[in-house]
Amino acid sequence: MAGAGAGGIGEAVLDAIDRRLLDLLQRDFPLNARPFAAIGERLALPEDEVLARVRLLKSADKGRLIRQIGAIFDTTALGYRSTLVAMQVPQDEVDRAAAAINRHPGVSHNYQRDQAWNLWFTLAVPADEDLETTVQALVDQAGGYPYRLFPALRVFKIDVQLDMEGAGDVSPVESTQGSRATPTAVPSARDKAFIRELQDDIEIVPQPFARVADRLGVSQEEVLAWLHEAKAAGWLRRFAAVLSQRQAGYVANGMVVWRVPEDRIEKVAAVAASLPQVSHCYQRPTYADWPYNLFTLIHAKSKGDCQAIAGRISQATGVSDYTILFSTKEYKKERLKYFAPAQEVMTSSSQSLYVEAQRYMPGGVNSPVRAFSAVGGEPLFIARGEGPYIYDVDGRRYIDYVLSWGPLILGHAHPQVVSALKEAVERGISYGAPTALETDLAKRVVEAVSSIEMVRFVNSGTEATMSALRLARAYTGRSKIIKFEGCYHGHADFLLVRAGSGVTTLGLPDSAGVPEGIAQDTLIGPYNDLPAVDRLFSENRGQIAAVIVEPVAGNMGVIPPEPGFLAGLRGLTKAEGALLVFDEVITGFRVAYGGAQALYGVTPDLTCLGKVVGGGLPVGTYGGRREIMEMVAPLGPVYQAGTLAGNPLAMTAGIETLKVLAEPGAYERLEERSTRLADGLRAAAEAAGVPVFQTRVGSMFCTFFSAEKVVDYASAKTSDANRYALFFRAMLASGVYLAPSQFEAGFLSLAHSEQDIERTIAAAEAAFAGVRG
Ligand code: PLP
Repeated sequence: MAGAGAGGIGEAVLDAIDRRLLDLLQRDFPLNARPFAAIGERLALPEDEVLARVRLLKSADKGRLIRQIGAIFDTTALGYRSTLVAMQVPQDEVDRAAAAINRHPGVSHNYQRDQAWNLWFTLAVPADEDLETTVQALVDQAGGYPYRLFPALRVFKIDVQLDMEGAGDVSPVESTQGSRATPTAVPSARDKAFIRELQDDIEIVPQPFARVADRLGVSQEEVLAWLHEAKAAGWLRRFAAVLSQRQAGYVANGMVVWRVPEDRIEKVAAVAASLPQVSHCYQRPTYADWPYNLFTLIHAKSKGDCQAIAGRISQATGVSDYTILFSTKEYKKERLKYFAPAQEVMTSSSQSLYVEAQRYMPGGVNSPVRAFSAVGGEPLFIARGEGPYIYDVDGRRYIDYVLSWGPLILGHAHPQVVSALKEAVERGISYGAPTALETDLAKRVVEAVSSIEMVRFVNSGTEATMSALRLARAYTGRSKIIKFEGCYHGHADFLLVRAGSGVTTLGLPDSAGVPEGIAQDTLIGPYNDLPAVDRLFSENRGQIAAVIVEPVAGNMGVIPPEPGFLAGLRGLTKAEGALLVFDEVITGFRVAYGGAQALYGVTPDLTCLGKVVGGGLPVGTYGGRREIMEMVAPLGPVYQAGTLAGNPLAMTAGIETLKVLAEPGAYERLEERSTRLADGLRAAAEAAGVPVFQTRVGSMFCTFFSAEKVVDYASAKTSDANRYALFFRAMLASGVYLAPSQFEAGFLSLAHSEQDIERTIAAAEAAFAGVRG
């Protein structure tokens, strides 16, 4: 047969000394103070020349033939569990999926192969990480495509060294069959520090171990002694050079998989493993649609050679059922980095985009809570959304419970909404003149929300509340407003008074830039505290225009109204001649089609809507009784206007969203899934021994990290926001995107499947366990 080293060596031209040097470096790198001098003795070369040759063989001039010289550790002996994973990814998504997978430091090899199972990667995780869970999370982040686990059931051969001297039919230089030492100990923190240093490429200097010793703050002797101990412990397989197979001319990489009768597997493996071109030979599991149980990796100089070698194995063994999966793209091929802190290894496109964004926008964001300040870390930059998922610019997928802060109750890019929007765009983006679409949406709102007889569309929730309260002041001829501590009604000056949401999250009592005079007409009461409201009324008799309330508080976490609270507000306002304004920007079309007022049976005078009513486009709405709404210009004296108010795109997204929501069963489905999610989160916390107070109304929910019942702002603030931050980060790492703040609501959409919810609960079980300690 053709010797493995008999042909040209890629682009590198090597002399006989280089070849002997490469063989020595691959076999046994001397573990002493002057390793290159020791090699020199064997080759009859001065140390200087050995160093010069090694440097050259590592250089671009020689095609970086030597990839690395360092310690090669035994994955299993270090307590790692590993597996090969195959995925079936749509062809135009493979690059993205591979990039997402490669971010995990435990992924060492990742190839595209020319088969239906077209993405193959190896993953190893340390003993304290669950392999299957990590695979599932990686697959989810890569797009959730079908996958199969192929852990090695038996290892017949691993890690061949390339024969550079060209003898050809050599026996394998390393076979792992029963030859490895049994690991005797678990690496300590000190061992892990040594492993982290020694797995890297050594410097090509006379005393490379002295450099390692310096970095570790120990003596060179200690490093060498440790290497010998590590070998005895079974952790260190060898200390050697790894060559670039590609540069050595082995450009064809074929994974040949064989269907071998169970009782013949050892014999067949022995034949395959005896060939030098077979670098790896493993027994792996079979599946109903995958009959092959023996995997061999063949490195050859061409596909033809690879096929010939496979044919020869087939002939010698009589196994004719096999197939070759050639690699068509190498996404990753590197040595596993043991005990590497994940965050240090991972760099991301999100990070670089964030750096740039901060140059041009305050905090790099257009709404403060998006900056992740409350949970640490850096925000993800999102590339696209589909159904219940968002995908970041690094290709990772997350189950999304933020849903653009509530509007996307149908999930991302709902086909009906998207197609209507496409058609609407074609007809022109905005006219600044009336359209039938506005009446269509207005009619749907009036039909859905019992207190609303007329509406006005604006562009945000902020505008809706601001305008509704202007109207309330005009209608009553009074100027004071009562709002509740921790409720957020947008960022109009007079409402930024002990607001919730981003203001609570960031610990700002108020906003700078709001003149005292403007804030003084805003009176504050604790949420769910009716006697306090009563007191405010009696202290300000005849002066209060309106009470504005989130009927379910959603900006200090999610806090349901206590029984009687909303009805009590209705009674008090009526008695005092003030208007009751429900800010249903979150709850409208969210907790019920008719909003919280339908759920709790309390009818306000004015209602503010936002979020869902715009289906993801910027829409706010305020509306109420006809006699009040008729005070709005042009009919009445209350001025309020908007260049893009009621624009056809926003109206279209709103109309289509409400159409889907009005279908029978929509809210039942949301209720059922939300119940399962909230119950699952509560049970997961309980099982982990983490005290939480779980709340939910319809498809809005919150897990307060508090042992106390949460009923208002003061009790919400007893939550352990640091624990929430840990929980948030753990969930994010498992592909679940929660609100980046303890004091925000979580939202569910019709697109979230039962499976998504079960995955979320499983991730939460692990995440809660992680935050307990
Ligand atoms: N009202 C409530 C209850 C809200 O939650 C919000 C925003 O989150 C607003 C008003 C302000 O809406 P926008 O952000 O669209 O201005």
